[in-house]
Amino acid sequence: MRLASYFHEETSKIGIVQNETIIDLSPYCSDMLTLINRTSEDMDLLGSWSSLATESHPLEDVRLLPPIPLPHRNIMCLGLNYAEHAAEHYSASGRETSLPDFPIIFTKATTSVNGPFDPIPFNPHVTEELDWEVELAVIIGREGINISPDKAMDYVFGYAVLNDVSARDLQRNHKQYFKGKSLDGACPMGPWIVTIESINDPHDLQIISRVNGEIKQESNTKFMIFCIPEIIAHISLGMTILPGDIIATGTPSGVGFARQPPEFLQPGDIVECEIQGVGSIRNKVIGKSVI
Ligand code: MG
Repeated sequence: MRLASYFHEETSKIGIVQNETIIDLSPYCSDMLTLINRTSEDMDLLGSWSSLATESHPLEDVRLLPPIPLPHRNIMCLGLNYAEHAAEHYSASGRETSLPDFPIIFTKATTSVNGPFDPIPFNPHVTEELDWEVELAVIIGREGINISPDKAMDYVFGYAVLNDVSARDLQRNHKQYFKGKSLDGACPMGPWIVTIESINDPHDLQIISRVNGEIKQESNTKFMIFCIPEIIAHISLGMTILPGDIIATGTPSGVGFARQPPEFLQPGDIVECEIQGVGSIRNKVIGKSVI
């Protein structure tokens, strides 16, 4: 099942996407966070809402929003969670590769969240090194703490495609990921949430990014160093995870800063991120006026 947040006739709504149509669930549930809270214990609710629904729209007539337009807290992200990306990262900075013993965890500000087809702002006075990172995002469905890996998938609500857009110069200058990962618009996601039962094996999905139609990253989620149950176990150790939490599971190799020569996004570029069975998002980089 694909669940989307969307904008139609001046109103934000939520709905179920079926083929090329979106069924409006707004009369039954106001927003995606409420939907996740209400349905995670009883997915049958979605079926009853859908059968009662009276309004639907062709997908092409709506503007898809980020599935969770305003997360209740920062997006949690894994750093260097694909071995080949870890290798290119260390090689680009002239260091010997070492794979992490524990997941590297950082966050992106809630205000970085961006729609699946909305522009990514570019301002050369802020950054000159804007980069792409296609990632599988895991959406948490239930509250929990100290979750063991064998129980972790019970806490997953679904998946989305996420582009962890990164300002490499800010990452470098500020010695920490947060600022460089949190610019406005630096977290395009969507195009919807695919619920957990729709994906047979989240650890066997093709994951691809393209810039202006050229493939930059092409891998498979089976190459994650820490798999989803291990990630949830680590994050929830002594720290409560909440329904609606978003976890970005890391990016494969092929990012811009590690290429020879390095490549960064420029105004007019179109970045596309695609994950098998989940969907595809596409964002144009748009120059912003000077601040
Ligand atoms: Mg990342």
